[in-house]
Amino acid sequence: MNGPGKVTSDHLRRIAYLYVRQSSLHQVNDHRESTARQYDLKRRAQALGWRSDQIVVIDEDQGLSGSSGSLRSGFQRLVAEVGLGRAGVVMGLEVSRFARSSTDWHRLLEICALAETLILDEDGIYDPSHFNDRLLLGLKGTMSEAELHVLRARLIGGQINKARRGELYLRPPIGYIYNTHQQMVFDPDEQVQRAVRLVFETFRRSGSAKRVVQHFSAEGILFPRRIVTGPRAGEVVFVLLEHSRVLHLLHNPRYTGAYVYGRTRQRKVVAGAATHYRRLPRDEWKVFIPNAYPGYISWEEYESNQAKLRANAAGYGWDRRRSAPREGVALLQGIAVCGRCGRRMRVQYYVKKGRPISTYICVRDAIQRGEPACQIILGTGIDETVSQAVLESVTPASVEVALEVFEELRARKAEVDRLHRAQVERARQEAELAQHQYMLVRPENRLVADTLERQWNEKLRQLAEAEQEYARVSSSDAHAVSSEDRRRIQSLVSDLPRVWNDPRTPSRERKRMLRLLVEDVTLLREEVIRIQIRWKGGATTQMERPLPLNATDLRRTPTAIVEMVRALATEQTDAQIARTLNARSLRSGTGMPFTVRNVRHVRTSYRIPGLVEHLRRAGWLTATEMASMLQVHPSTAKCFAREGILRAVRADDRGQILYEPPHGPLPTAIPGKKLRDRRVYPKLAAHVRHEVQSDA
Ligand SMILES: [Zn+2]
Repeated sequence: MNGPGKVTSDHLRRIAYLYVRQSSLHQVNDHRESTARQYDLKRRAQALGWRSDQIVVIDEDQGLSGSSGSLRSGFQRLVAEVGLGRAGVVMGLEVSRFARSSTDWHRLLEICALAETLILDEDGIYDPSHFNDRLLLGLKGTMSEAELHVLRARLIGGQINKARRGELYLRPPIGYIYNTHQQMVFDPDEQVQRAVRLVFETFRRSGSAKRVVQHFSAEGILFPRRIVTGPRAGEVVFVLLEHSRVLHLLHNPRYTGAYVYGRTRQRKVVAGAATHYRRLPRDEWKVFIPNAYPGYISWEEYESNQAKLRANAAGYGWDRRRSAPREGVALLQGIAVCGRCGRRMRVQYYVKKGRPISTYICVRDAIQRGEPACQIILGTGIDETVSQAVLESVTPASVEVALEVFEELRARKAEVDRLHRAQVERARQEAELAQHQYMLVRPENRLVADTLERQWNEKLRQLAEAEQEYARVSSSDAHAVSSEDRRRIQSLVSDLPRVWNDPRTPSRERKRMLRLLVEDVTLLREEVIRIQIRWKGGATTQMERPLPLNATDLRRTPTAIVEMVRALATEQTDAQIARTLNARSLRSGTGMPFTVRNVRHVRTSYRIPGLVEHLRRAGWLTATEMASMLQVHPSTAKCFAREGILRAVRADDRGQILYEPPHGPLPTAIPGKKLRDRRVYPKLAAHVRHEVQSDA
């Protein structure tokens, strides 16, 4: 296989490609001698007969690691050149590593064979179109791949073994550092530690990551972040706390003090650059050593946090701002939350037997997007259940709990205060340091002095900001709030049941009292109606109520809608009712918009009389009856109605007109001819005459 015998004049007419590939930056830096080896290859090509201007170097993929050829434009260019028959020889160090994976390698061999391109490496020159050479090359490629596999396995295996002993270095999460004995310990920086603790404490209290962010931003507390790369690597900066960071903290099991490795699984996407990471369930983690170092939270708390986050994600959104209590009987107005989508539910009222009835309705996107309402739940029963729970919850024993909560509020305020003082103190130290550095620089070194002065000014500005923020927060009335609330809570205990049940208490007051105790109430209509009361302070109470409907017949029109139809039918025709219901974004039991047909269906199946029956019962007359009563032609009666002399309505959708029996003296007219008294109805008379003439 050695020897210039393989090189023909045809090969020498074409270009010699020197393919340079080094699979990582590490190699680029460390293996500088490879440049010399490449130069050696060039000389050998020249010895075989190629001119130096015929030798082209392809090294476009330097620094890219390559387990698949698809990313490497240099390799692709090489393949293209060979395929076009421009290459006489392809040269490279350890040629079998041209393409690390067999597929790429065999493809290049195929193409080289077809294009009659030679291959040259330090071991010799090969002609892939010759069986023996090709066998050898193929073997080399396979060997190379196997080698790569072994290398990787050894590397990862070593890593896992180290991890199993808990000795593999993992970047410590914020709030931890490695001490000199390579043990993870709490970050000795008090400000960092407190901020991390505050995240967990706030979540414990509020049960919502968003609330944690809101708390930090309302109190003006910054969160530490360690810079990972760049010239300032390792430095801790304080930045605004973001939602994603809170989630990151809460989902990270390492805050329980557990040594954890292999929580995710990577999957390479075919022929692509992207790698997908999937979070694995707990029992599939590669290494899990509980209590390997001190924890910010317990493992139990971690698990309960995960459950809370899952529940939040499922749509128990607590983030909507509550609306102020208004008049109206619906107790949960403004605090009812849809258990299906997490939005605030609205209240709709209708009247049944002279009493207002409330309905909680989640219209979600119904208004903007014309979709069916998300949930409709009749307020009757729900309001009573919640009232009951509230009255039961407010006992002298529960007040103790309430007072504890307020103690905690005060403690939290103190904690916030400490954090702020630390923030100010840090800013002051940094400003002093900057000043010190500025003072030390020699005056003739203008450039450095300018930079240091700018930094000093910047630090002074940050100090002023921190002080302002501290002043703002400490001026807010922490103590006033807690003592005021304490007084109100205490007075509630003795008075609540009496005041609550007093019919003279306006609904608005009842709602105000409710809001002192309850954060929100989540309603979910399933096989039963599930009610979750979230009390102030984060505790919850779950309750159920049977559906007002027969549970086997969920497709039936919701009771609330049947009641609305009943109320509307006294004034509207079926078509008008359908329009009214659709305008309120309501849907039938099967989720369809209302039509004349299904409104009529609801009416007949619930025996709700229609508008015609209502009016007839109230003594209204048909056109014929009216005409005979007035002794006029029916069309004259119609004219009377049109002129406002008689009151008439369209009583059904086929156009039947019903007339209200006239009060006082009857209007009169010559039957079928003209009006007797033109002085009273001159306009009408002309009209009727015209109509009679056109009839003739
Ligand atoms: Zn909803």
